[in-house]
Amino acid sequence: MSPWLAPLRLIADFALPPRCPGCGAVTGEDHRFCAVCWGALRFLAPPWCATCHAPFAYDRGAGAQCAACIADPPRHAGVRAAVAYGDVARTVALRLKYGGRTAFAETVGRQMARLLPDDADMLVPVPLHRWRLWSRGFNQAALISAALTRVSGVANDPMLLRRVKATPPLRAMGAKARARAVAYRAALDAIEDDPSEEAEILRLEYRAILMQADDDPHGGITYGELPADPLRRRGIAAARKSIFNLRTTEVIGDDAFHRLEEELDRAELSAGG
Ligand SMILES: [Zn+2]
Ligand SMILES: [Zn+2]
Repeated sequence: MSPWLAPLRLIADFALPPRCPGCGAVTGEDHRFCAVCWGALRFLAPPWCATCHAPFAYDRGAGAQCAACIADPPRHAGVRAAVAYGDVARTVALRLKYGGRTAFAETVGRQMARLLPDDADMLVPVPLHRWRLWSRGFNQAALISAALTRVSGVANDPMLLRRVKATPPLRAMGAKARARAVAYRAALDAIEDDPSEEAEILRLEYRAILMQADDDPHGGITYGELPADPLRRRGIAAARKSIFNLRTTEVIGDDAFHRLEEELDRAELSAGG
């Protein structure tokens, strides 16, 4: 670090104590998780499928593949994930992607460095279309690969790939997808004023669902497994009311209504409601 930057770094350290990327508790060092969040992260490592790296419960020998890869061999050479999807991993990803917490790219990059193949030549982040880049302001994959380059020294070219196909604009969505967007905006409104940490995470989750609706207008929503909380149930109640209104006013048909209702049922189940 340049001698000119060091005092600035000291001032920043003094003003902002390092916090756990998972829960915000004060920790000893930047990018370090607190003991509780660290314990909740499930780090992935061998034994795993030689092709997709899905973890195995026991060692099946070198080169063993999972049933899915044997049945339908993927067209890539391998996928690796630093941690299994769970509450803490999801919170970090949501805060990075939709909460603008770009420093978390460093947190993620440090965990991914462990799984980088020895013979890696080049890191190429998955690009965002420029419209999305304008609306979000950054590409989280590019930030993570830059962090990975800092840790590993492997070269990095964020301009090698370009996304030329734009994601469909809102007006091209089907009625069901539009209704879903309306429902989740209602869910977002219902918890808007709550200042708690839980509400902040849930708002990020709803915003993520709304942004995914732009990405994939016909796709389903995947629900995570946040611990049951009353805020989630309040949001779902508001979403139910709004799809009911959309049906009554014939904005959506019975079919779309029932499918949305099913989705809300599943969300409510996972919220313990
Ligand atoms: Zn924590
Ligand atoms: Zn596999």
